[in-house]
Amino acid sequence: MLMDLFKFKGGVKPPSNKLQSNHLPIALAPMPSRLVMPLHQSIGGTPRPIVAAGDHVLKGQMIGEADGWISAAVHAPTSGTVVEVAMHVRPHPSGLDSLCVVIEPDGKDEWIARTPIDHNAAAPADVFHHLQQCGIVGLGGAGFPAHGKLTPTKGVPMDELIINGAECEPFITCDDLLMRERADEVVRGIAVFRDLLQPKKVLIGIEDNKPEAIAAMRAAVDALNEPFSVVAVPTLYPAGGAKQLIRVLTGKEVPGSMRSTADMGVQVFNVGTAYSAWRAIAHGEPLISRILTVTGNVHAPRNYEVLIGTPMGELLALAQPHPDTDGILMGGPMMGFLIPNPQVPVVKTTNCLIAHDDRLFPPKAPEMPCIRCGACARACPHELQPFEMYWFSRAKNFGKTQEYNIFDCIECGCCSFVCPSHIPLVDYFRFSKSEIWSREREKESADGARDRFEFKNFRQEREKQEKAEKLAAKAAATREKVATEGAGAPAAADGEAAPKPKPSGDDAKRALIEAAMEKARQQKAQVAPKNTDHLAPDVEADIAAIDARRNAAPARAADTPDA
Ligand code: SF4
Ligand code: SF4
Repeated sequence: MLMDLFKFKGGVKPPSNKLQSNHLPIALAPMPSRLVMPLHQSIGGTPRPIVAAGDHVLKGQMIGEADGWISAAVHAPTSGTVVEVAMHVRPHPSGLDSLCVVIEPDGKDEWIARTPIDHNAAAPADVFHHLQQCGIVGLGGAGFPAHGKLTPTKGVPMDELIINGAECEPFITCDDLLMRERADEVVRGIAVFRDLLQPKKVLIGIEDNKPEAIAAMRAAVDALNEPFSVVAVPTLYPAGGAKQLIRVLTGKEVPGSMRSTADMGVQVFNVGTAYSAWRAIAHGEPLISRILTVTGNVHAPRNYEVLIGTPMGELLALAQPHPDTDGILMGGPMMGFLIPNPQVPVVKTTNCLIAHDDRLFPPKAPEMPCIRCGACARACPHELQPFEMYWFSRAKNFGKTQEYNIFDCIECGCCSFVCPSHIPLVDYFRFSKSEIWSREREKESADGARDRFEFKNFRQEREKQEKAEKLAAKAAATREKVATEGAGAPAAADGEAAPKPKPSGDDAKRALIEAAMEKARQQKAQVAPKNTDHLAPDVEADIAAIDARRNAAPARAADTPDA
Protein backbone atom coordinates (compact mmCIF):
# COMPACT_ATOMS: atom_id res chain seq x y z
CA MET A 1 0.00 0.00 0.00
CA LEU A 2 1.31 3.42 -0.92
CA MET A 3 0.82 6.16 1.55
CA ASP A 4 2.06 9.70 2.02
CA LEU A 5 5.06 9.98 4.25
CA PHE A 6 6.29 13.02 6.15
CA LYS A 7 9.73 14.29 7.06
CA PHE A 8 11.13 15.00 10.47
CA LYS A 9 13.52 17.85 10.99
CA GLY A 10 17.25 17.21 11.16
CA GLY A 11 18.78 13.75 11.18
CA VAL A 12 22.07 12.38 9.84
CA LYS A 13 23.29 9.51 7.68
CA PRO A 14 26.17 7.75 9.42
CA PRO A 15 27.74 4.68 7.75
CA SER A 16 25.25 1.86 8.38
CA ASN A 17 27.71 -1.02 9.01
CA LYS A 18 24.82 -3.50 9.01
CA LEU A 19 26.01 -5.84 6.26
CA GLN A 20 28.60 -7.48 8.50
CA SER A 21 25.98 -9.12 10.73
CA ASN A 22 22.81 -9.53 8.68
CA HIS A 23 23.85 -12.24 6.23
CA LEU A 24 23.76 -15.19 8.66
CA PRO A 25 20.67 -16.64 10.33
CA ILE A 26 20.08 -16.21 14.06
CA ALA A 27 22.18 -18.68 16.10
CA LEU A 28 21.35 -20.01 19.55
CA ALA A 29 24.00 -18.93 22.05
CA PRO A 30 25.21 -21.78 24.29
CA MET A 31 24.45 -21.94 27.99
CA PRO A 32 26.82 -19.60 29.86
CA SER A 33 28.80 -20.61 32.95
CA ARG A 34 26.49 -18.57 35.14
CA LEU A 35 23.63 -16.13 34.74
CA VAL A 36 23.47 -12.78 36.48
CA MET A 37 19.91 -11.42 36.49
CA PRO A 38 19.63 -7.77 37.52
CA LEU A 39 16.23 -7.27 39.13
CA HIS A 40 15.90 -3.77 37.70
CA GLN A 41 15.49 -4.27 33.94
CA SER A 42 12.68 -1.90 33.09
CA ILE A 43 11.36 1.54 33.77
CA GLY A 44 9.44 1.67 37.06
CA GLY A 45 9.68 -0.19 40.36
CA THR A 46 12.52 -2.63 40.95
CA PRO A 47 11.15 -6.16 41.32
CA ARG A 48 11.50 -7.70 44.79
CA PRO A 49 13.63 -10.88 44.96
CA ILE A 50 11.58 -13.95 45.92
CA VAL A 51 14.44 -16.47 45.96
CA ALA A 52 17.49 -16.82 48.17
CA ALA A 53 20.95 -18.36 47.87
CA GLY A 54 20.69 -22.14 47.79
CA ASP A 55 17.22 -22.28 46.18
CA HIS A 56 16.76 -24.50 43.17
CA VAL A 57 14.89 -22.79 40.34
CA LEU A 58 13.34 -23.98 37.10
CA LYS A 59 13.60 -22.29 33.74
CA GLY A 60 10.96 -19.55 33.58
CA GLN A 61 10.37 -19.50 37.35
CA MET A 62 9.74 -16.03 38.71
CA ILE A 63 12.68 -14.82 40.81
CA GLY A 64 11.67 -11.16 41.19
CA GLU A 65 8.07 -10.01 41.51
CA ALA A 66 6.83 -6.73 40.08
CA ASP A 67 6.84 -3.83 42.50
CA GLY A 68 3.85 -1.70 41.56
CA TRP A 69 1.91 -1.22 38.35
CA ILE A 70 4.83 0.16 36.34
CA SER A 71 7.17 -2.73 36.95
CA ALA A 72 7.63 -6.17 35.38
CA ALA A 73 8.62 -9.52 36.86
CA VAL A 74 12.01 -11.17 36.30
CA HIS A 75 12.52 -14.92 35.75
CA ALA A 76 15.19 -17.59 35.86
CA PRO A 77 16.52 -18.07 32.29
CA THR A 78 17.34 -21.71 32.96
CA SER A 79 17.10 -24.29 35.72
CA GLY A 80 19.81 -24.35 38.34
CA THR A 81 20.81 -23.10 41.77
CA VAL A 82 20.69 -19.58 43.07
CA VAL A 83 24.22 -18.96 44.29
CA GLU A 84 23.69 -15.43 45.57
CA VAL A 85 21.39 -12.43 45.63
CA ALA A 86 23.88 -9.60 45.70
CA MET A 87 24.98 -6.31 44.15
CA HIS A 88 26.70 -6.47 40.76
CA VAL A 89 27.49 -3.93 38.06
CA ARG A 90 24.59 -3.49 35.70
CA PRO A 91 24.82 -2.37 32.07
CA HIS A 92 24.11 1.31 32.44
CA PRO A 93 26.14 4.45 31.61
CA SER A 94 26.32 5.16 35.36
CA GLY A 95 28.30 1.93 35.91
CA LEU A 96 26.52 1.57 39.26
CA ASP A 97 25.73 -1.71 41.00
CA SER A 98 22.25 -3.10 41.33
CA LEU A 99 20.71 -6.10 43.06
CA CYS A 100 21.08 -9.29 40.99
CA VAL A 101 20.12 -12.93 41.34
CA VAL A 102 23.05 -15.13 40.28
CA ILE A 103 22.15 -18.61 39.00
CA GLU A 104 24.45 -21.52 38.35
CA PRO A 105 22.86 -23.61 35.55
CA ASP A 106 22.32 -27.33 36.23
CA GLY A 107 22.51 -28.14 32.51
CA LYS A 108 18.99 -29.65 32.42
CA ASP A 109 17.27 -26.48 31.17
CA GLU A 110 14.08 -27.77 32.80
CA TRP A 111 11.00 -25.61 32.26
CA ILE A 112 8.43 -24.63 34.85
CA ALA A 113 4.79 -25.37 33.89
CA ARG A 114 3.77 -22.71 31.38
CA THR A 115 0.30 -21.22 31.23
CA PRO A 116 -0.85 -19.52 28.01
CA ILE A 117 -3.85 -17.18 28.01
CA ASP A 118 -6.63 -16.71 25.48
CA HIS A 119 -6.49 -12.93 25.15
CA ASN A 120 -9.82 -12.85 23.28
CA ALA A 121 -11.68 -14.69 26.05
CA ALA A 122 -9.87 -13.14 29.03
CA ALA A 123 -10.68 -9.75 30.52
CA PRO A 124 -8.14 -7.07 29.43
CA ALA A 125 -7.04 -6.66 33.07
CA ASP A 126 -6.14 -10.37 33.16
CA VAL A 127 -4.15 -10.06 29.93
CA PHE A 128 -2.26 -7.04 31.35
CA HIS A 129 -1.54 -8.99 34.52
CA HIS A 130 -0.33 -11.97 32.48
CA LEU A 131 2.06 -9.78 30.48
CA GLN A 132 3.35 -8.14 33.64
CA GLN A 133 3.85 -11.53 35.31
CA CYS A 134 5.72 -12.71 32.19
CA GLY A 135 8.02 -9.66 32.44
CA ILE A 136 7.24 -8.28 28.97
CA VAL A 137 8.90 -4.88 28.50
CA GLY A 138 9.77 -2.70 25.51
CA LEU A 139 12.77 -4.22 23.74
CA GLY A 140 13.54 -1.17 21.64
CA GLY A 141 15.64 0.49 24.31
CA ALA A 142 13.53 2.19 26.96
CA GLY A 143 12.23 -0.98 28.63
CA PHE A 144 8.78 0.36 29.47
CA PRO A 145 6.51 -2.44 30.79
CA ALA A 146 4.28 -3.42 27.86
CA HIS A 147 1.07 -3.80 29.86
CA GLY A 148 1.38 -0.14 30.93
CA LYS A 149 1.43 1.03 27.32
CA LEU A 150 -1.43 -1.29 26.38
CA THR A 151 -3.77 0.22 28.94
CA PRO A 152 -5.99 2.65 26.97
CA THR A 153 -5.89 6.31 27.93
CA LYS A 154 -9.31 7.39 29.22
CA GLY A 155 -11.15 9.71 26.89
CA VAL A 156 -8.55 9.53 24.10
CA PRO A 157 -9.47 7.27 21.18
CA MET A 158 -6.54 5.35 19.72
CA ASP A 159 -5.95 6.49 16.15
CA GLU A 160 -2.74 4.71 15.24
CA LEU A 161 -0.85 1.75 16.58
CA ILE A 162 2.70 2.05 15.23
CA ILE A 163 5.08 -0.88 15.17
CA ASN A 164 8.71 0.15 15.08
CA GLY A 165 10.89 -1.97 12.83
CA ALA A 166 13.01 0.96 11.65
CA GLU A 167 16.19 -0.07 13.45
CA CYS A 168 18.00 3.09 12.39
CA GLU A 169 21.15 2.84 14.52
CA PRO A 170 24.28 1.65 12.66
CA PHE A 171 25.63 -1.90 13.21
CA ILE A 172 22.39 -3.24 14.79
CA THR A 173 20.49 -5.90 12.82
CA CYS A 174 18.60 -7.94 15.45
CA ASP A 175 15.15 -6.57 14.53
CA ASP A 176 15.94 -7.08 10.85
CA LEU A 177 16.71 -10.77 11.42
CA LEU A 178 13.73 -11.22 13.77
CA MET A 179 11.36 -9.90 11.10
CA ARG A 180 12.98 -12.00 8.37
CA GLU A 181 12.84 -15.24 10.38
CA ARG A 182 9.87 -14.89 12.71
CA ALA A 183 7.52 -12.49 10.95
CA ASP A 184 4.49 -14.71 11.59
CA GLU A 185 4.85 -14.48 15.37
CA VAL A 186 5.66 -10.77 15.24
CA VAL A 187 2.43 -10.13 13.32
CA ARG A 188 0.43 -12.31 15.74
CA GLY A 189 1.82 -10.23 18.61
CA ILE A 190 0.83 -7.04 16.79
CA ALA A 191 -2.69 -8.47 16.44
CA VAL A 192 -2.85 -8.92 20.24
CA PHE A 193 -1.86 -5.28 20.72
CA ARG A 194 -4.48 -4.26 18.15
CA ASP A 195 -7.18 -6.26 19.97
CA LEU A 196 -6.31 -4.61 23.28
CA LEU A 197 -5.93 -1.03 22.04
CA GLN A 198 -8.55 -1.02 19.26
CA PRO A 199 -6.73 1.52 17.05
CA LYS A 200 -8.18 2.81 13.81
CA LYS A 201 -4.97 1.89 11.93
CA VAL A 202 -1.93 -0.30 12.41
CA LEU A 203 1.25 0.92 10.69
CA ILE A 204 4.48 -1.09 10.67
CA GLY A 205 7.43 1.19 9.85
CA ILE A 206 10.65 -0.40 8.53
CA GLU A 207 13.64 1.49 7.09
CA ASP A 208 14.00 0.89 3.36
CA ASN A 209 17.50 -0.61 3.81
CA LYS A 210 15.84 -3.88 5.02
CA PRO A 211 14.07 -5.19 1.93
CA GLU A 212 14.01 -8.82 3.16
CA ALA A 213 12.36 -7.84 6.43
CA ILE A 214 9.79 -5.70 4.63
CA ALA A 215 8.96 -8.58 2.28
CA ALA A 216 8.71 -11.09 5.14
CA MET A 217 6.42 -8.86 7.16
CA ARG A 218 4.18 -8.15 4.19
CA ALA A 219 3.92 -11.87 3.48
CA ALA A 220 3.00 -12.61 7.10
CA VAL A 221 0.40 -9.85 7.19
CA ASP A 222 -1.17 -11.24 4.02
CA ALA A 223 -1.02 -14.83 5.25
CA LEU A 224 -2.77 -13.91 8.48
CA ASN A 225 -5.19 -11.69 6.58
CA GLU A 226 -4.55 -8.69 8.84
CA PRO A 227 -5.32 -5.15 7.68
CA PHE A 228 -1.91 -3.86 8.75
CA SER A 229 0.20 -1.54 6.57
CA VAL A 230 3.88 -2.40 6.26
CA VAL A 231 5.54 0.89 5.31
CA ALA A 232 9.10 1.31 4.02
CA VAL A 233 10.41 4.57 5.51
CA PRO A 234 13.49 6.46 4.25
CA THR A 235 16.75 5.47 5.91
CA LEU A 236 17.74 8.46 7.98
CA TYR A 237 19.02 8.38 11.55
CA PRO A 238 17.08 8.60 13.97
CA ALA A 239 13.97 7.49 12.07
CA GLY A 240 13.55 4.78 14.72
CA GLY A 241 12.95 7.33 17.47
CA ALA A 242 9.30 7.07 18.52
CA LYS A 243 8.57 10.74 17.84
CA GLN A 244 10.36 10.67 14.49
CA LEU A 245 8.55 7.53 13.33
CA ILE A 246 5.19 9.00 14.36
CA ARG A 247 6.04 12.12 12.38
CA VAL A 248 7.11 10.15 9.29
CA LEU A 249 4.07 7.83 9.29
CA THR A 250 1.29 10.16 10.43
CA GLY A 251 2.56 13.72 10.04
CA LYS A 252 1.77 14.32 13.74
CA GLU A 253 4.24 16.37 15.77
CA VAL A 254 4.63 15.15 19.32
CA PRO A 255 5.10 18.17 21.60
CA GLY A 256 8.24 18.02 23.71
CA SER A 257 6.18 18.47 26.87
CA MET A 258 3.96 15.44 26.13
CA ARG A 259 4.76 12.60 28.49
CA SER A 260 2.99 9.86 26.55
CA THR A 261 2.09 9.71 22.88
CA ALA A 262 -1.08 7.85 23.92
CA ASP A 263 -2.40 11.28 24.97
CA MET A 264 -2.58 12.16 21.28
CA GLY A 265 -4.01 8.81 20.22
CA VAL A 266 -0.80 7.09 19.10
CA GLN A 267 1.06 4.19 20.69
CA VAL A 268 4.41 2.76 19.55
CA PHE A 269 5.87 -0.72 20.15
CA ASN A 270 9.06 -2.34 18.93
CA VAL A 271 8.78 -5.48 16.77
CA GLY A 272 10.72 -7.45 19.40
CA THR A 273 8.16 -6.49 22.05
CA ALA A 274 5.32 -7.78 19.85
CA TYR A 275 7.18 -11.06 19.38
CA SER A 276 7.84 -11.52 23.14
CA ALA A 277 4.25 -10.63 23.98
CA TRP A 278 3.01 -13.30 21.57
CA ARG A 279 5.31 -15.93 23.14
CA ALA A 280 3.89 -14.98 26.56
CA ILE A 281 0.26 -15.05 25.40
CA ALA A 282 0.34 -18.16 23.21
CA HIS A 283 2.97 -20.24 25.02
CA GLY A 284 3.08 -18.81 28.55
CA GLU A 285 6.79 -18.05 28.13
CA PRO A 286 8.22 -15.27 30.26
CA LEU A 287 10.84 -12.97 28.76
CA ILE A 288 14.06 -14.88 29.47
CA SER A 289 15.90 -14.54 26.17
CA ARG A 290 16.25 -12.11 23.29
CA ILE A 291 17.95 -11.72 19.94
CA LEU A 292 20.95 -9.44 19.81
CA THR A 293 23.69 -8.50 17.39
CA VAL A 294 27.34 -9.24 18.14
CA THR A 295 29.55 -7.30 15.76
CA GLY A 296 32.39 -4.79 15.43
CA ASN A 297 36.01 -5.85 15.68
CA VAL A 298 35.25 -9.59 15.46
CA HIS A 299 35.86 -12.44 12.98
CA ALA A 300 32.27 -13.75 12.98
CA PRO A 301 29.65 -11.07 13.48
CA ARG A 302 26.06 -12.35 13.62
CA ASN A 303 22.84 -12.38 15.61
CA TYR A 304 22.30 -14.72 18.54
CA GLU A 305 19.33 -15.73 20.59
CA VAL A 306 20.76 -15.22 24.06
CA LEU A 307 19.59 -15.95 27.60
CA ILE A 308 19.12 -12.78 29.60
CA GLY A 309 21.83 -12.68 32.27
CA THR A 310 24.61 -14.05 30.02
CA PRO A 311 27.92 -12.26 30.75
CA MET A 312 28.70 -10.06 27.73
CA GLY A 313 32.30 -11.24 27.58
CA GLU A 314 31.18 -14.88 27.04
CA LEU A 315 28.89 -13.79 24.27
CA LEU A 316 31.51 -11.68 22.55
CA ALA A 317 33.87 -14.66 22.61
CA LEU A 318 31.43 -16.53 20.32
CA ALA A 319 32.08 -13.98 17.59
CA GLN A 320 35.87 -14.31 18.01
CA PRO A 321 37.04 -10.78 18.72
CA HIS A 322 40.32 -9.60 17.21
CA PRO A 323 43.23 -9.35 19.66
CA ASP A 324 43.26 -5.55 19.57
CA THR A 325 39.70 -5.33 20.88
CA ASP A 326 39.84 -2.93 23.79
CA GLY A 327 36.27 -2.79 25.05
CA ILE A 328 32.61 -3.69 24.53
CA LEU A 329 30.09 -1.12 23.42
CA MET A 330 26.50 -1.88 24.37
CA GLY A 331 24.02 -0.47 21.82
CA GLY A 332 24.99 1.29 18.64
CA PRO A 333 27.79 3.78 18.06
CA MET A 334 25.40 6.76 18.26
CA MET A 335 23.63 6.05 21.54
CA GLY A 336 25.61 3.19 23.05
CA PHE A 337 28.19 3.24 25.83
CA LEU A 338 31.24 1.23 26.87
CA ILE A 339 30.54 -1.30 29.59
CA PRO A 340 32.92 -1.33 32.58
CA ASN A 341 33.89 -5.03 32.38
CA PRO A 342 33.07 -8.21 30.39
CA GLN A 343 31.17 -9.73 33.34
CA VAL A 344 28.32 -7.26 32.87
CA PRO A 345 25.22 -9.28 31.90
CA VAL A 346 22.90 -9.02 28.93
CA VAL A 347 19.58 -7.48 29.99
CA LYS A 348 16.18 -7.29 28.32
CA THR A 349 17.06 -4.05 26.54
CA THR A 350 20.47 -5.15 25.22
CA ASN A 351 20.14 -5.17 21.44
CA CYS A 352 23.78 -5.08 20.33
CA LEU A 353 27.35 -5.65 21.48
CA ILE A 354 30.15 -4.08 19.44
CA ALA A 355 33.76 -5.10 19.94
CA HIS A 356 35.54 -1.76 20.21
CA ASP A 357 38.91 -0.89 18.72
CA ASP A 358 40.70 2.19 17.41
CA ARG A 359 40.23 1.23 13.78
CA LEU A 360 36.43 1.23 13.97
CA PHE A 361 36.24 4.03 16.49
CA PRO A 362 39.30 6.25 16.09
CA PRO A 363 40.17 8.38 19.11
CA LYS A 364 38.27 11.61 18.99
CA ALA A 365 40.11 14.67 17.72
CA PRO A 366 40.78 17.24 20.44
CA GLU A 367 37.82 19.35 21.37
CA MET A 368 37.96 22.82 19.78
CA PRO A 369 36.05 25.97 20.66
CA CYS A 370 32.48 26.31 19.39
CA ILE A 371 32.40 28.47 16.29
CA ARG A 372 28.63 28.92 16.39
CA CYS A 373 28.19 27.41 12.95
CA GLY A 374 24.72 26.09 13.84
CA ALA A 375 25.30 22.66 12.28
CA CYS A 376 24.23 20.96 15.51
CA ALA A 377 20.91 22.81 15.56
CA ARG A 378 20.23 21.88 11.94
CA ALA A 379 20.91 18.21 12.68
CA CYS A 380 18.82 18.03 15.85
CA PRO A 381 15.61 16.05 15.23
CA HIS A 382 14.02 17.65 18.28
CA GLU A 383 14.60 21.21 17.09
CA LEU A 384 16.75 22.04 20.10
CA GLN A 385 19.66 24.49 20.26
CA PRO A 386 22.55 22.16 21.17
CA PHE A 387 25.22 24.87 21.15
CA GLU A 388 23.23 26.94 23.69
CA MET A 389 22.73 23.90 25.90
CA TYR A 390 26.44 23.22 25.55
CA TRP A 391 27.43 26.76 26.67
CA PHE A 392 25.20 26.60 29.70
CA SER A 393 26.28 23.03 30.54
CA ARG A 394 29.91 24.13 30.43
CA ALA A 395 29.12 27.09 32.67
CA LYS A 396 27.13 24.77 34.98
CA ASN A 397 24.18 27.06 34.56
CA PHE A 398 21.73 24.19 34.80
CA GLY A 399 18.68 26.42 35.11
CA LYS A 400 19.41 27.82 31.68
CA THR A 401 19.92 24.36 30.17
CA GLN A 402 16.42 23.54 31.35
CA GLU A 403 15.11 26.73 29.79
CA TYR A 404 16.57 25.37 26.56
CA ASN A 405 14.64 22.09 27.10
CA ILE A 406 17.59 19.84 27.77
CA PHE A 407 15.19 17.12 28.92
CA ASP A 408 13.69 16.93 25.43
CA CYS A 409 17.10 15.77 24.21
CA ILE A 410 16.97 12.03 23.40
CA GLU A 411 20.79 11.81 23.30
CA CYS A 412 20.65 10.62 19.70
CA GLY A 413 24.12 12.04 19.03
CA CYS A 414 23.27 13.78 15.74
CA CYS A 415 24.68 17.08 17.05
CA SER A 416 27.98 15.54 18.17
CA PHE A 417 28.19 13.67 14.86
CA VAL A 418 28.13 16.87 12.76
CA CYS A 419 30.07 19.22 15.05
CA PRO A 420 33.20 20.45 13.20
CA SER A 421 34.81 21.34 16.52
CA HIS A 422 34.55 17.73 17.73
CA ILE A 423 32.70 18.80 20.84
CA PRO A 424 31.23 15.77 22.63
CA LEU A 425 27.93 17.57 23.03
CA VAL A 426 25.96 14.58 24.26
CA ASP A 427 28.47 14.02 27.07
CA TYR A 428 27.85 17.59 28.22
CA PHE A 429 24.09 17.04 28.11
CA ARG A 430 24.33 13.78 30.05
CA PHE A 431 26.45 15.56 32.65
CA SER A 432 23.91 18.40 33.00
CA LYS A 433 20.98 16.02 33.27
CA SER A 434 22.65 13.92 35.93
CA GLU A 435 23.59 17.07 37.89
CA ILE A 436 20.03 18.36 37.70
CA TRP A 437 18.65 14.99 38.84
CA SER A 438 21.14 14.80 41.66
CA ARG A 439 20.29 18.34 42.85
CA GLU A 440 16.60 17.55 42.61
CA ARG A 441 17.15 14.49 44.77
CA GLU A 442 19.14 16.54 47.30
CA LYS A 443 16.46 19.21 47.35
CA GLU A 444 13.73 16.62 47.82
CA SER A 445 15.70 15.11 50.65
CA ALA A 446 16.23 18.55 52.30
CA ASP A 447 12.56 19.44 51.79
CA GLY A 448 11.61 16.14 53.34
CA ALA A 449 13.82 16.80 56.38
CA ARG A 450 12.38 20.32 56.79
CA ASP A 451 8.82 19.01 56.46
CA ARG A 452 9.52 16.36 59.09
CA PHE A 453 10.99 18.99 61.47
CA GLU A 454 8.05 21.34 60.98
CA PHE A 455 5.59 18.54 61.46
CA LYS A 456 7.30 17.50 64.69
CA ASN A 457 7.01 21.05 66.05
CA PHE A 458 3.42 21.26 64.95
CA ARG A 459 2.64 17.94 66.62
CA GLN A 460 4.27 18.98 69.91
CA GLU A 461 2.36 22.28 69.91
CA ARG A 462 -0.86 20.49 69.14
CA GLU A 463 -0.30 18.00 71.98
CA LYS A 464 0.38 20.85 74.42
CA GLN A 465 -2.75 22.63 73.37
CA GLU A 466 -4.85 19.47 73.63
CA LYS A 467 -3.51 18.84 77.13
CA ALA A 468 -4.35 22.39 78.26
CA GLU A 469 -7.83 22.10 76.77
CA LYS A 470 -8.41 18.81 78.55
CA LEU A 471 -7.36 20.30 81.93
CA ALA A 472 -9.57 23.35 81.43
CA ALA A 473 -12.52 21.14 80.48
CA LYS A 474 -11.97 18.99 83.56
CA ALA A 475 -11.83 22.03 85.87
CA ALA A 476 -14.99 23.46 84.29
CA ALA A 477 -16.77 20.15 84.75
CA THR A 478 -15.76 20.03 88.41
CA ARG A 479 -16.97 23.59 89.03
CA GLU A 480 -20.25 22.83 87.34
CA LYS A 481 -20.68 19.68 89.38
CA VAL A 482 -20.03 21.52 92.63
CA ALA A 483 -22.47 24.28 91.70
CA THR A 484 -25.10 21.75 90.64
CA GLU A 485 -24.76 19.75 93.83
CA GLY A 486 -24.89 22.98 95.97
CA ALA A 487 -28.03 24.26 94.24
CA GLY A 488 -29.73 20.89 94.33
CA ALA A 489 -29.06 20.30 98.13
CA PRO A 490 -32.27 19.91 100.29
CA ALA A 491 -33.20 22.93 102.50
CA ALA A 492 -32.51 22.56 106.22
CA ALA A 493 -35.45 21.50 108.30
CA ASP A 494 -36.29 23.51 111.44
CA GLY A 495 -33.70 22.82 114.07
CA GLU A 496 -31.81 20.62 111.72
CA ALA A 497 -28.52 21.47 110.01
CA ALA A 498 -28.59 21.22 106.23
CA PRO A 499 -26.35 18.42 104.98
CA LYS A 500 -22.98 19.80 104.02
CA PRO A 501 -21.97 19.46 100.38
CA LYS A 502 -18.98 17.22 99.87
CA PRO A 503 -16.00 19.53 99.58
CA SER A 504 -14.25 19.63 96.29
CA GLY A 505 -10.46 19.71 96.05
CA ASP A 506 -10.48 23.53 95.82
CA ASP A 507 -12.89 23.88 98.75
CA ALA A 508 -10.76 21.58 100.85
CA LYS A 509 -7.77 23.71 100.05
CA ARG A 510 -9.63 26.86 100.98
CA ALA A 511 -10.74 25.27 104.27
CA LEU A 512 -7.18 24.32 105.11
CA ILE A 513 -5.99 27.86 104.41
CA GLU A 514 -8.72 29.36 106.59
CA ALA A 515 -7.91 26.95 109.40
CA ALA A 516 -4.25 27.95 109.19
CA MET A 517 -5.20 31.65 109.23
CA GLU A 518 -7.40 31.16 112.25
CA LYS A 519 -4.62 29.45 114.11
CA ALA A 520 -2.29 32.32 113.26
CA ARG A 521 -4.88 34.83 114.53
CA GLN A 522 -5.15 32.97 117.80
CA GLN A 523 -1.38 32.89 118.27
CA LYS A 524 -1.26 36.62 117.59
CA ALA A 525 -3.97 37.24 120.11
CA GLN A 526 -1.94 35.40 122.73
CA VAL A 527 0.92 37.92 122.44
CA ALA A 528 -1.37 41.03 122.27
CA PRO A 529 -1.33 43.78 125.15
CA LYS A 530 -2.55 42.38 128.50
CA ASN A 531 -6.03 42.92 129.78
CA THR A 532 -5.71 44.37 133.32
CA ASP A 533 -8.86 42.73 134.53
CA HIS A 534 -7.05 39.63 135.48
CA LEU A 535 -4.24 41.35 137.41
CA ALA A 536 -3.79 40.91 141.16
CA PRO A 537 -5.44 43.51 143.61
CA ASP A 538 -2.15 44.93 144.98
CA VAL A 539 -1.03 45.74 141.48
CA GLU A 540 -4.35 47.48 140.91
CA ALA A 541 -3.75 49.59 143.95
CA ASP A 542 -0.33 50.61 142.65
CA ILE A 543 -1.83 51.67 139.39
CA ALA A 544 -4.50 53.67 141.08
CA ALA A 545 -1.79 55.51 143.09
CA ILE A 546 0.15 56.30 139.92
CA ASP A 547 -2.98 57.63 138.26
CA ALA A 548 -3.73 59.82 141.26
CA ARG A 549 -0.23 61.28 141.15
CA ARG A 550 -0.54 61.97 137.45
CA ASN A 551 -3.85 63.82 138.05
CA ALA A 552 -2.36 65.95 140.82
CA ALA A 553 0.69 67.05 138.85
CA PRO A 554 -0.86 69.99 136.85
CA ALA A 555 -2.04 71.70 140.08
CA ARG A 556 1.49 71.64 141.46
CA ALA A 557 2.92 73.10 138.31
CA ALA A 558 0.56 76.10 138.54
CA ASP A 559 1.86 76.94 142.05
CA THR A 560 5.56 77.09 140.93
CA PRO A 561 6.98 80.73 139.96
CA ASP A 562 8.56 81.21 136.55
CA ALA A 563 7.12 77.85 135.44
S1 SF4 B 1 28.12 22.31 15.62
FE1 SF4 B 1 29.70 22.51 17.17
S2 SF4 B 1 30.83 24.36 16.57
FE2 SF4 B 1 28.90 24.38 15.43
S3 SF4 B 1 27.52 25.57 16.73
FE3 SF4 B 1 27.23 23.45 17.27
S4 SF4 B 1 28.59 23.15 19.00
FE4 SF4 B 1 29.27 25.00 17.99
S1 SF4 C 1 21.59 14.62 21.17
FE1 SF4 C 1 19.94 15.91 21.85
S2 SF4 C 1 20.54 17.96 21.25
FE2 SF4 C 1 21.82 16.54 20.10
S3 SF4 C 1 20.75 16.24 18.23
FE3 SF4 C 1 20.06 14.62 19.54
S4 SF4 C 1 18.23 15.42 20.55
FE4 SF4 C 1 19.29 17.15 19.61
